[in-house]
Amino acid sequence: MAFIPSYVRLFEEGELSQRIKVLREFLKECQLCPRECQVNRLKGEVGYCGAGSELMVSSAFPHFGEEPPLVGFHGSGTLFLTYCNLRCVFCQNYDISHLGKGEHTTPSDLARAMLRLQEIGCHNINFVTPTHFAPQIVASLPEAIENGLRLPIVYNCSGYESIEVIRLLEGVVDIYMPDVKYMDERFSRRFSNAPDYPEVIRKVLKEMHRQVGDLVTNSLGIAERGLLIRHLVMPGGVASSEAVLKFIAEEISVHSYVNIMDQYRPEYRAYEHSEIDRRITHQEYREAIQIAKSLHLHRGF
Ligand code: SF4
Repeated sequence: MAFIPSYVRLFEEGELSQRIKVLREFLKECQLCPRECQVNRLKGEVGYCGAGSELMVSSAFPHFGEEPPLVGFHGSGTLFLTYCNLRCVFCQNYDISHLGKGEHTTPSDLARAMLRLQEIGCHNINFVTPTHFAPQIVASLPEAIENGLRLPIVYNCSGYESIEVIRLLEGVVDIYMPDVKYMDERFSRRFSNAPDYPEVIRKVLKEMHRQVGDLVTNSLGIAERGLLIRHLVMPGGVASSEAVLKFIAEEISVHSYVNIMDQYRPEYRAYEHSEIDRRITHQEYREAIQIAKSLHLHRGF
């Protein structure tokens, strides 16, 4: 049977327009993420992330470097959003996330961009760093759905999310893809100015998994729905890989798809911090994989 994303039903029942209204309210005293800046973004004020009222997109293209279940045969339809609410000192995309590289984009423009990615055969719509623009993204869906959008929506985020906003995305997002960065507040404070990151990510992962479950793929191995977790191994144990993987195995599911990534490289202001001014060693990466295996995790790495 052909895949029908759950947002189509929300749209047909009129629930999607209710969600759009509620999410828009968050922009008035912005509480879209745990930073809770309380600035009125609808009036042009900006908070920690730097984002205003209008959506900004840096690029839209079929991405072939994502996880195999997202890439499939024709790529993941990736839309890079400008700015970021986490703003790590080692950011690998700092020109987009910190410096604001991108173009102002209306909801209609975004709807057209999604439809274009569908037309060229992409298997999903992959919003990269969507947190601070969640209301604007959801507001662009009705026009896209009316014009035939039927691809799963991927929410490709840092995991530093408001639990209330994630609840409002139930049935809108088909695939959650959080990058679990830390489980130790010393490092999340130091490198992302977010001491509450470990506490937040635990709740967020549980809520995401409650909504969509473990990653499900179709007969061709292409992702349709579920939780796809990323974890970037950092030098010197900064990413607390053992604690992250233990939490996933014990509190989420041993069937979680976990992409344990080895591509950390010192970027942006990482050179100012001796712990993270180098790449990881083969040994550090091997240890993370061994830990995952010993915990009976078995998908994605
Ligand atoms: S989304 Fe941006 S403005 Fe809103 S609370 Fe988060 S950091 Fe602040």
